[in-house]
Amino acid sequence: MSTGDQKEKNATQSEDELSLEVKKHSAFWLRHLRMLPTPYISGDLQRMTLGYFCIGALDLLNLLEVKVDVQERKEYIDWIYDQQLDRSFGGGFLPGPFLRRDQYQDGSADSSLPSGSRPSGNLAMTYTALLNLAMLGDDFVRLDREAILLHLHSLQQPDGSFAPSLGQDECDCRFVYCAFAVCSMLNAWDSIDVEAAIGFLHSSRSYDGAFAQGPGQESQGGSTYCAVAALSLADKLDTIQNSEQLISWLTARQQQKQGGFNGRIEKDEDACYSFWCGASLEILGSHNLIDSKADTDWLLSCQTKVGGIAKVPDEIPDVMHSYLSLAALAMHAYEEECESSGTRLKPFLRELDPTLNISKHSLERMRQKLT
Ligand SMILES: [Zn+2]
Repeated sequence: MSTGDQKEKNATQSEDELSLEVKKHSAFWLRHLRMLPTPYISGDLQRMTLGYFCIGALDLLNLLEVKVDVQERKEYIDWIYDQQLDRSFGGGFLPGPFLRRDQYQDGSADSSLPSGSRPSGNLAMTYTALLNLAMLGDDFVRLDREAILLHLHSLQQPDGSFAPSLGQDECDCRFVYCAFAVCSMLNAWDSIDVEAAIGFLHSSRSYDGAFAQGPGQESQGGSTYCAVAALSLADKLDTIQNSEQLISWLTARQQQKQGGFNGRIEKDEDACYSFWCGASLEILGSHNLIDSKADTDWLLSCQTKVGGIAKVPDEIPDVMHSYLSLAALAMHAYEEECESSGTRLKPFLRELDPTLNISKHSLERMRQKLT
C-alpha cells in the first residue's frame, strides 16, 4: 500500500472495523497451491479446480507474480497441459494425473479401472484449466482448440443440457455454465446448440423466479448464478422474463442478522453465497441493492487465524469457500456507493469479472491472446 493509500485508510476506516488479513491469506494460498493438506485427498478428481481456487485467490490479491516466480508458474502451465486430451481421446482436460492418458497410449491401461474405461475430459476442469492458464500468463500456443470444441459438442444432451464428462449423467445448469464459459473464452459458439441450452436454463427456472439445477427442482443460489452468468455470456440476459422477481429473490438471500447470504429460503448464512448471489446481482446490474458493508463485515468475520475464509465464523477454512469469499469481497471493493468496503479492500484486491469469475486483469490478457 502506498503512503497516500495508508493516509486515506486512516482517515476513513474506523479503528474497530475488521481488515483483510492479506499476509495470512498469502501464506494460506501458497501453502495450498504447493501441497494440498490430507483432507483434500477425496477431492483429487477436482484437482484442476482446487488449483484454480489457489491461483485465482493469489491473482485477485495481486500476489501471483510477486510470490510465485516465473519458473514455478511455467511448471504449473506444463502440468496443466499434461492434462489436455487430444482429439483421439475426445478432447478437453482431465482433473489431474490420477487418470493418465499415457497408460492408454502404450496399451497398458490401469487394471484397477473398469474394462473399457478411458480417461474422458471434464467440462468443469476444461473451464478451470483455461482460467488457470490465463492467470499464469500462458500464450495458449499449445491449446488444442478443435479438440476442446469437439469435446463440448460430444457432451451436449438432447434437452440442451451438458454432461460433465462422457458417460456421466449429472446434466444440469452447472455444466451449461461451464460450456458457455469455454465458448466465450475461445470465442467459438458454433460447436454447440446455444438455443437448446438456453431453453434448458429457462426450463430450470422455478415458480419463485430463481433457477434450480434442472426442471422441477428447488431454486438455489449456486444454480441461479450458473444460469444468470451463462445467459450473460451468451448475451441473452434479456430473455429472462420478469427479472424483478429474480432480483427480489436474490436480495432476500442477504440476512439482516449477520449481513451474509444464504442459498435458499430458511437456510443459514454461508460465505460462498455472498459470491453466488452477489455475483448474480452484479451481472443483473443490481449490486447496489446489496448492503456491501454488512456483507464485507460478515465475510471478514469468517477469516481464520491461519488465513483463508471459512463458510461461517470459527470454522476450518477450505479453498472453495475461501476463494469465493475473496471473489465476493473483490466485487464489493469496487462498489462505488460503499466507501467502507472500498477503503478496506480496494488497495488489496483486483477487480473481478463476475461472469467468468476471474480478475478483469487476467481476463483482458486472455482475450488479447485468444481472440
Ligand atoms: Zn457454501
